[in-house]
Amino acid sequence: MLGHDATGPRSVQVTVAGGPGPAAQRNPLGFLRDLRHALELADDAYMRDGSVWVGEWHTHPVGQQHPSSQDMRTYRLLLEDPELGFSELVSVIVTPADGWTCTELSGWVIRPSTGRSGRLVAAAANILPSRLIAPGSDP
Ligand SMILES: [Zn+2]
Repeated sequence: MLGHDATGPRSVQVTVAGGPGPAAQRNPLGFLRDLRHALELADDAYMRDGSVWVGEWHTHPVGQQHPSSQDMRTYRLLLEDPELGFSELVSVIVTPADGWTCTELSGWVIRPSTGRSGRLVAAAANILPSRLIAPGSDP
């Protein structure tokens, strides 16, 4: 997901929720993104409105709405990478509702705990959609 800090200190505006890309490798336990596709999305978004990488979204087909232990390991790698410069990141998990006829979005802010445990905290966040754009439409 790409975007930028919004009006308040505790909010992020997501401007692009990119797909996995045509060369992504998917299986029931995870996926490897199409890095070229992701970089092109990021370059386009940055040039358009200064959007930067703010977090990740993905589906949980069996319906678990909170980040999995594998998700948290991935987020830890991102948060601990000094080149990325994350102090926290946003996670959105999409789950099916009524099959995949409808979906539910669960938002999380992932950050290191303030204690000495070294754990990550996944704090539930509200998602306020501003507009929906159909795939293939010009935003
Ligand atoms: Zn997950």
